[in-house]
Amino acid sequence: MNILMLGAPGSGKGTQSEFLCSKKGFKHLSTGDLFRKNISEETKVGLWAKDFIIKGLLVPDEVTNKMVEEFLENDSDNLIFDGYPRNIEQAVELDKMLANNSKKLDYVIYLDIDDSILVERIINRLVCPTCKRSYHKLNRKPKVENICDFDETPLEVRDDDVLEKVNQRLQTYNEQTKPLIDFYKNRLKKIDSNNKSPNEIFKNILDSLGI
Ligand code: ADP
Repeated sequence: MNILMLGAPGSGKGTQSEFLCSKKGFKHLSTGDLFRKNISEETKVGLWAKDFIIKGLLVPDEVTNKMVEEFLENDSDNLIFDGYPRNIEQAVELDKMLANNSKKLDYVIYLDIDDSILVERIINRLVCPTCKRSYHKLNRKPKVENICDFDETPLEVRDDDVLEKVNQRLQTYNEQTKPLIDFYKNRLKKIDSNNKSPNEIFKNILDSLGI
């Protein structure tokens, strides 16, 4: 079964993807994480993607689709797609790429959350560069200040998690990614994510998938 996590930046896609991977054996495909890995390794893709990411814009489809295609050559089932597709063109491309591997995208989990919560969450986010888990500077602090609970790596603030960039990212999401809600209406599972703990949301996701 392949699943897409759909939702605004800061809606909890990464956290829920991590739960699905560690508790239900899925594998995580986060295009944002793949881009950040390419940036830190200074690959050609990384150098190319950096300018778009720092501006809160989408990396052009050609580069993004190619990166996903390469990933799917090794693995095309039991995946959690996180941050891809992010526009209709990518969604059409993904259906084709999966069909070429005799697979499909089975369900789309849409984490529905009020815009007002997102900015506060993103600008207070700390991430572990090793395991990619995220924390909140005030509400979900690590046990030891600035250190990941799971692997003791010093936590970081993402370059694009600053206020000037966040508004552009939300605008990009509203203009380009939100239309996917309608595109995927037949496989969509909408999860109300307001005022709920990550564990409650996870339970709702499992119920909606019947797993
Ligand atoms: P968030 O969901 O918090 O915005 P991500 O880690 O998914 O963060 O993405 C960070 C950035 O990486 C995006 O703002 C964008 O520039 C780039 N990116 C990630 N996925 C895609 C994609 N599918 N298409 C184009 N650009 C992408």
